[in-house]
Amino acid sequence: MRVKLATLIIVGAFGLSAPALAWDYPGHRIVGAIADGVLQQHYPHTYKRVSDLLEIKRPGDLWQKRTLREVAVFPDCAKKGNEAYCGRPSSEEELSYAEHNPQNDKFHYTDVPLQQPKYQVGLAGTEDTDVVHMIGFLVEYLRTVGDAPPTRPQKKGVRLTDTEAIWLLAHLVGDIHQPLHVGAKYYDKTCVTSVDPNTVGGLANVAQTVGGNLIYIAPKAPIVPPAGNLHLFWDSTTVLRAMKMSGQLGNEQEYAKALAGSPPTGWDNMTDPAEKWAEQWATEIMPRATEAHDRLTITKGPKPSPFFATGGCTWETTVDDGYQDWAAKVAEEQVKKAGFRLAALLVAIFPNKP
Ligand SMILES: [Zn+2]
Repeated sequence: MRVKLATLIIVGAFGLSAPALAWDYPGHRIVGAIADGVLQQHYPHTYKRVSDLLEIKRPGDLWQKRTLREVAVFPDCAKKGNEAYCGRPSSEEELSYAEHNPQNDKFHYTDVPLQQPKYQVGLAGTEDTDVVHMIGFLVEYLRTVGDAPPTRPQKKGVRLTDTEAIWLLAHLVGDIHQPLHVGAKYYDKTCVTSVDPNTVGGLANVAQTVGGNLIYIAPKAPIVPPAGNLHLFWDSTTVLRAMKMSGQLGNEQEYAKALAGSPPTGWDNMTDPAEKWAEQWATEIMPRATEAHDRLTITKGPKPSPFFATGGCTWETTVDDGYQDWAAKVAEEQVKKAGFRLAALLVAIFPNKP
């Protein structure tokens, strides 16, 4: 999620200098693969619509088909300095998107204080271009595909092609199901007592953990920590551990297929129109975000914050096997929900009709 921040964090002895990415690439691809599978099997007309919109023209007038699985990582691959994670330089398509959407880095998360029971517009930590607002906007935007440009919804600082809107949606539905992309812990200026910025006069009066990016996982000798910080742990380690627990480490497609075989309880509990689902999902995940912090002992760490604006502190914690197993189970449930919900959102936008 926060590249500027994360590139400054040196993550450990194995030379991983790691931007925080949200579910990391396997997670995003698995979410996309579940949605591909659900749409292909049950909503062929919706699938065709999505697939047509994702087509791209290659040299020689060749049109290339793409899946949600493939495009779900593009908004992270479009970030500057993410080449090591993306496994390739940004494509021309991603560079063009990043140029037209300079706030791309901010689209991927919101930072609702853990003390808040639900996502509410205007709370400290929320923004007009946060993940909740962006998903809502993308739903409205994609509902008007084919309309004349002046009648299409607009958002300041956002300029998208229909193709980009689909890949951004596929990505952000993954992000919003990662607990630390929604709930954030804040401290008072001593960095010892957790506070809600809404009750102490706003963000200027708190120290921010930046979605757990500044909660480092302490390397207890001789062990190498599973990730450099808590945000990154939730982005990547949890999904890999879940895959390992299911015996599918390294086999994303098979793992996605297995997850797509049984929808998680409560995945379809959305009551509002599709534009509002993201708000409901953000509220739903708050208890998970809280538990992800409350299960740990988090203390003020010795390192200074790499960011001027976040209050000057960093924190430390350790994650034992029990925590890691619990987190992997949560991650699996969330990735699964995200996959089914991405499919449902696309069916709501493009009804399954010839
Ligand atoms: Zn992201």
